[in-house]
Amino acid sequence: PSLPGELDASRVIVTLATELKTVPSLEELASGGFSQVMTDHMILVSYDPVHGWSAPEIKPYGPLSMMPASACFPYAINAFEGMKAYMGPDGIPRLFRPEKNMARFARSAARVALPAFNPTELLKIIRQLVTIDKRWVPAAKGHSLYIRPMIIGTRSSLNLSISDSALLWVMCAPSGPYFRNTRPLSLFAATDAVRAWPGGTGEHKIATNYGPTLTHHQRAQAANHDMNLWLLGDKITEAGIMNFFVVLRRDDGDLDVLTPPLDGTILPGITRESILALAAAHPSRMILPGLSEETRLHPAERELTMPDLETWLADGNVVEVFVVGTAVVVSSIGHIAWGAKEIVLPQYGDALGPVSKALRERILDIQEGEFEWEDWCVPC
Ligand code: PMP
Repeated sequence: PSLPGELDASRVIVTLATELKTVPSLEELASGGFSQVMTDHMILVSYDPVHGWSAPEIKPYGPLSMMPASACFPYAINAFEGMKAYMGPDGIPRLFRPEKNMARFARSAARVALPAFNPTELLKIIRQLVTIDKRWVPAAKGHSLYIRPMIIGTRSSLNLSISDSALLWVMCAPSGPYFRNTRPLSLFAATDAVRAWPGGTGEHKIATNYGPTLTHHQRAQAANHDMNLWLLGDKITEAGIMNFFVVLRRDDGDLDVLTPPLDGTILPGITRESILALAAAHPSRMILPGLSEETRLHPAERELTMPDLETWLADGNVVEVFVVGTAVVVSSIGHIAWGAKEIVLPQYGDALGPVSKALRERILDIQEGEFEWEDWCVPC
């Protein structure tokens, strides 16, 4: 038994919605991104310094109540996560490596001095929520239920001080494929701003890393690009809300699968980590779909710069560039606008390159329960 005041899944109080909403059709979800419609239920739990964590509630999705002086508003005392549930062939929803999201959520919350919670208990409650809202998990390929855990500081005080009270909730929305097709994306490298910096908070999923990127996202889209490429000097960090990969042909004919190291300026993506692991497993532990046994992949975390990329391109060594994340899974990159330069990357028509295609297929099959791999797929 846990101590009083700890987040405890066995104390959940479930109140079911009396009126259920209409689930969006697959056509409605096909318009790209996440649905604006939240599912019928949410998790809500609060923390105060006297009682600790309250009994968690699963209740109808609805407004929160909090004081206008809550510290989360001026001081951005918050953290969040993004994860997905996929419908398995057996009609049971599955989560993809959810303990990784829970651990990152706990780290992000700790970075802004929010009260600690037990991530294992939170995951149990999320599984219960997804089971209750199971009819919202789309069964179609590439579709999923997006799950958004949030925690905010609710201490009512105008002082900049640690929030000794908090609200934690989890809401869900069905989602279709993030991009409507697999055409290569175009990136716009910001040369007058950085997303994160050494010693900063780039590795955490907290609001301050996101809101200030929107002006640049808007500028990238106005210039007909899909999203920003975030650099630090010449160093490539991330693209939009995705981690960056480049595949290089080596002198021995093998392929390097490279992504920048986690130096504190990069969000430690769970898709990124999974892509590195899957690439390392080919071909000794499994054969990736569409790749031959002779194709040897060497995944590595290595600093990547724009001049490096130009040199590799000029030498004809770049096989492909792609980005990865929960939202897109895997998308290929066709162009990068960098200052006055227009960098054109290898393209495979409207399809992904060979390595990203293989990795995307395998990861989707694992997520959707079609291919079993380690303990990555957790049934609800
Ligand atoms: N970078 C940033 C800045 C992100 O917000 C995300 C999404 N969480 C990612 C990368 C990809 O991470 P993941 O694979 O865990 O979704």
